[in-house]
Amino acid sequence: MPVSELDIAVIPLLKDNYGYLLHDPDSGTTAAVDPSEAQPMLDAAAARGWKISHVLNTHHHNDHCGGNLGIKQATGATVVGPAYDRDRIPGIDIAVDEEAGFDLARHHARVLFIPGHTSGHIAFHFAGSNAVFCGDTLFSIGCGRMFEGTPQQMWSSLCKLRALPDQTWIYCGHEYTEANCRFAVTIDPENRDLAEFAAAVKHARAQGEKTIPSNLGIEKFCNPFLRADQPGLLEKFGGKGRDPVAAFAAIRRAKDSF
Ligand code: ZN
Ligand code: FE
Repeated sequence: MPVSELDIAVIPLLKDNYGYLLHDPDSGTTAAVDPSEAQPMLDAAAARGWKISHVLNTHHHNDHCGGNLGIKQATGATVVGPAYDRDRIPGIDIAVDEEAGFDLARHHARVLFIPGHTSGHIAFHFAGSNAVFCGDTLFSIGCGRMFEGTPQQMWSSLCKLRALPDQTWIYCGHEYTEANCRFAVTIDPENRDLAEFAAAVKHARAQGEKTIPSNLGIEKFCNPFLRADQPGLLEKFGGKGRDPVAAFAAIRRAKDSF
């Protein structure tokens, strides 16, 4: 029997977080990804007739796993998180790494180790559903702050995500796209794809629409943090050595004080 694609629901949480529900229609298996809080995730699942069986965490920040224990208590769900950070993930049952990956029913997720925002950050890539859950590492037109990592680590992590197929949908941790666009156009003012995308985002947000998921193929053309090694930005920010890591670091620094 062929494997159906996962049904994916985007659940707004807190001020600007997104949690996600992944539902396998064949088995009924349902995962809550990065639940900031338990109740809205439980309600969203119930409204769809789904029962949460798993929690998947990309990293240990409270706005991504604050709902772990509440969901576990209410449903008995199995909590899955980064092996590197097993001590910082509340209620963790299964610690995953790149080698093992993770199977949600018959849906295989490749686990990508993508440190930089935190030292144990991971992403779950469900190739069969063209979906990657990347927490606070890659945002639409942006990337996360480097709380526990170096520019070299963060750049390598972003390159790992960039290497996924163009048709991949980016399910990230926050709705930051509009603010990210305001910054990105100052870094890459000649980029017409970006200007067009920024205008579309502004319009969508004015209508109250979500901008997530975002398409990786488009991000490659528009997101300055994925373009630090492209000729224009490399010349502008990469210094004499035209070093992609230096260019990335300079763009990230500029964003920190934007
Ligand atoms: Zn975070
Ligand atoms: Fe976050």
